[in-house]
Amino acid sequence: MVRFAAVAAEFGNTRIPGTGSRVPTSHRKRTPKHRAGVASSPFSASDRGPAASELNRRRFLGALAAATVAGVGAARLVVDPQPRTFAQAPAARVATSGPTAPSALLPPPPLGARVPLPGGGALSKIPGQGDLLALTVDDGVNSEVVRAYTQFAKDTGIRLTFFVNGVYKSWTENLDMLRPLVDSGQIQLGNHTWSHPDLTTLPKDQIAQQIGRNDQFLKKTYGIGAKPFWRPPYGKHNAAVDAVAADFGYTVPTLWSGSLSDSTVITEDYIVQMADKYFTPQSIVLGHLNHQPVTHVYPQLVEIIRDRDLRTVTLNDVFLNNT
Ligand SMILES: [Zn+2]
Repeated sequence: MVRFAAVAAEFGNTRIPGTGSRVPTSHRKRTPKHRAGVASSPFSASDRGPAASELNRRRFLGALAAATVAGVGAARLVVDPQPRTFAQAPAARVATSGPTAPSALLPPPPLGARVPLPGGGALSKIPGQGDLLALTVDDGVNSEVVRAYTQFAKDTGIRLTFFVNGVYKSWTENLDMLRPLVDSGQIQLGNHTWSHPDLTTLPKDQIAQQIGRNDQFLKKTYGIGAKPFWRPPYGKHNAAVDAVAADFGYTVPTLWSGSLSDSTVITEDYIVQMADKYFTPQSIVLGHLNHQPVTHVYPQLVEIIRDRDLRTVTLNDVFLNNT
């Protein structure tokens, strides 16, 4: 604690000791498209101001956590055949991963607390008052990101919903790692169509093919049914699209109340800003399994969740699912 305070006292508004230069500079390369997207943000123009100070504090704490993870991870390679990442106590005495690990997040609510699906339209928020956060992560363009998110779940106990596009090889490449978490319910899989078209532009037979093929892929590959949750690509759906989806049993178009805005490459700082803004009680937050920056800010995401005493949940943790 003393050392922490000393380091914190040295921590200024502009640099993180030992790590500060890496985080801000390594992801500055953006295409004009990305630059335009970030430039529209009210947060990206300056690193100064109270919000930036708070963010710098998070970044600093995250850097400490990341250093811990890196250190423990390195030790594991040498001496410990068991996966051990966030946990630092001996494996024989304390669980090293999952919901009982020392640094684990809060467990989900009891099964008896599940509520009926509201029905009658798209789902974009968890109903009622509470402390729940549904982080839902989509696509799977990058196999390394799918792997990192899955490891993140193993390390912290965070509960996630992945909306899968079966077209990406990440879903078969990471099957062995992902399957046990899917089986245990810590990671839930939802249907995001086979290859991510805007369904509102397609004729009915192609809408059906997109949803049906992905449904078959999930059943064949993971042995699970994803019904009734599906997410229309780009959030675009209408009555005709919904009717085709419902024919397959996908009766709940699942949208979101906030987004990490990382469907394209954005900075790590901006992702943390978005988490700070949208990780609120009863929210459904959208993220993406497409680009690396989010995988560098897991400690900051965990810190926000912990600070706010949020319980991460899958959709099946929240809703009674009769399908
Ligand atoms: Zn998507």
